[in-house]
Amino acid sequence: MSEEAMPDWLRQARSLIGKRYGRVRAWDPVNVPMARQWAEIMGVTNPVYSDASRAQALHGRAVVPPAMLQVWCMEGPVMNHYAPGSTDENPYEVLKMMEAQGYGSVVAVNSELSFDRYLSPDEQVYYVTDLQDIGPEKTTALGTGFFVTLIMTYYVEATVGDPDESQDERVGQLLFRVFKFKPAAPPSKSVDSAASGVQLPKVPAPGISDDTRFFWDGASRGQLMVQRCTSCQTLRHPPGPACPQCHSLEWDTLEASGKGTLYSYVVMHYPEVPPFSYPNPIGLIELEEGTRLIAGLKGFDAQQHPIGTPVLVQFETVETTQGPMTFPYFTPTPPVGA
Ligand code: ZN
Repeated sequence: MSEEAMPDWLRQARSLIGKRYGRVRAWDPVNVPMARQWAEIMGVTNPVYSDASRAQALHGRAVVPPAMLQVWCMEGPVMNHYAPGSTDENPYEVLKMMEAQGYGSVVAVNSELSFDRYLSPDEQVYYVTDLQDIGPEKTTALGTGFFVTLIMTYYVEATVGDPDESQDERVGQLLFRVFKFKPAAPPSKSVDSAASGVQLPKVPAPGISDDTRFFWDGASRGQLMVQRCTSCQTLRHPPGPACPQCHSLEWDTLEASGKGTLYSYVVMHYPEVPPFSYPNPIGLIELEEGTRLIAGLKGFDAQQHPIGTPVLVQFETVETTQGPMTFPYFTPTPPVGA
């Protein structure tokens, strides 16, 4: 895009490249309890972070995991609630400008952390944000928009609370790149195969193994079969070779009543994958026998059928890539309009 052709808003956005947004300070100094909890959650078991004598031997001081760098300055569960002394400037202001132009979607593309040194307890961390780049307008599979690159540089205060940054020590950096875009238009509505003569692809056949064959054989007879451990009687689904409760390999099957309740659901809207019809609701059904399974929903309306709605199994036979197969699906009881 030439300089002349560039719209005013984009010229204005680009004029912000190189801008530095002020400090975001950590709520608390680097501290051992937070580091220990983070390490537990992340599964970090390196004893250098839990055994002071090892840290002393290796680093001459206690250290915390470098990958926690971002953690110290996080706002917490309340949005934009930053520690005193933090900027109230929005380092994402160019994203807001793009949103106003219809580039409403965002996806994180890169996040690259680099570390200059380990942090130790009692150090006070802050970061500043530089708007490094706004790329040229690009069209990707997601849509048309701009790659925006921000760099967060982390420092330790030489004197806690002193706004003079000259003596502060840089400890690491985070490069954060997002793609801010107008979503690509969804493909035109699925072709009506009967009207156009276009052959829709067939439903992909499920993979069937010795562990799951009983389920599909049952469906072909109009029966919803559930696997049962013969040692401890625990039901399980999806089927598998061993009981997760008692590890027995012995099992038989039980014919479920087909009655259950809607435990949860999703409604697939996009992308539309033929030959399925959309919106495509898929339920997680809790069977009255006590186990759960995922299956398609028909006659379902999210407004009228909240979680907990009673459902009943039905069966339909469809042409799959491996020939005709029968699938269970569920309908709310009573169905819509009944
Ligand atoms: Zn068992």
